[in-house]
Amino acid sequence: MSTSAVLTQCPRCKQEQAKIVGDQRAVCSLCSKALRRVYQFCWACRREWQGENCSNTCDLPGCALRAALLSDVVITDPVSSVLGCPFFRACPACKNLLTHSGEGCPYIECPQCCTGFCFRCLREECDGYVGYEFDENPESDDDDDDEEYDGYSDYYCDVVKPCTVIDNSTALEALGL
Ligand SMILES: [Zn+2]
Ligand SMILES: [Zn+2]
Ligand SMILES: [Zn+2]
Ligand SMILES: [Zn+2]
Repeated sequence: MSTSAVLTQCPRCKQEQAKIVGDQRAVCSLCSKALRRVYQFCWACRREWQGENCSNTCDLPGCALRAALLSDVVITDPVSSVLGCPFFRACPACKNLLTHSGEGCPYIECPQCCTGFCFRCLREECDGYVGYEFDENPESDDDDDDEEYDGYSDYYCDVVKPCTVIDNSTALEALGL
């Protein structure tokens, strides 16, 4: 057996000293010492462990959703209008987990409830960007075929006043997680 333990950050003391001991379970020895009991937490959703001690599956509600929203994966495409945004967002209306294709306007529509919102600032009414969809069947100004959109995405996006990218903490609060 290898002696190098996989360490992760503890949500309580914030030290990178907690040892991963199961699929989702981790133990922090610093907090265990401070609390005089074994301090365990789910390293996916970063909350204190609530399930059976020997279980490796987190029983906390919304674990996967919270884990996705807490993930530090961000959109890194330098030409994307959603550069720097967390990879996952929760729809402000129905809390469905969503991501952005990276193309076009930051404003997206939730496929589940059809609520539109800005992927950057999470406002339903963001005036920072104006998006245009290309006409899919242009009939007026083409020569013969319509397959000539080389180099363009399907959407245009004009920047009016870039809004601030916010993290998912307010969304997590709204979800009660
Ligand atoms: Zn700790
Ligand atoms: Zn969890
Ligand atoms: Zn929705
Ligand atoms: Zn916005």
